[in-house]
Amino acid sequence: MCGIVAHLGTENSIEIVLEGLKRLEYRGYDSSGISFLSHEKKDLELFKREGKLENLKEVLSGEDRESEVCIGHTRWATHGKVNDINAHPHRFDNISIVHNGIVENDGDLRNYLRESGFEVKSETDTETFLGLLIVNQKSSSSFLEAVSKSFKQIEGNSAFVILNKDTEELVAVKRGAPLVCGETND
Ligand code: GLU
Repeated sequence: MCGIVAHLGTENSIEIVLEGLKRLEYRGYDSSGISFLSHEKKDLELFKREGKLENLKEVLSGEDRESEVCIGHTRWATHGKVNDINAHPHRFDNISIVHNGIVENDGDLRNYLRESGFEVKSETDTETFLGLLIVNQKSSSSFLEAVSKSFKQIEGNSAFVILNKDTEELVAVKRGAPLVCGETND
């Protein structure tokens, strides 16, 4: 079963997310990844690797990275092979995304996205949802509206956490899949 961990706050979110993913390892997974907003580069950074969390940590080693907003994922593949490309997060333009679950109408939506000019590069249903977000952003007055429109287009049980570089916000949305949000006052 896959795991999602995300953090937004004043501490180093990258460390908090990696620790969270470590704690979810017992559930089983085939790949892992994180995406965060890099202050130095003023952009979304993304690292992901097939296999154990140690593989991801190896890629991250050798440089001190800090961010106040980060999303992370351990994948249990349902759509597409186990490889680096299909691992989460998925990113396009201003958005990175992680997903737990299955988009049942993935095939139909891929056709729709092709006609709308969005090319899905991985084999995952997750990137299909990302494509919907990108397309719907153009006709929405807010990012939340784009998320809401996109979520209504998909069938099946899913939880997503979405990191938006432009608004520096995390958005979580779910149907029939577990996802818990917490807030601390420290
Ligand atoms: N369906 C998605 C995939 O195959 C998410 C799987 C999961 O819940 O880890 O990448």
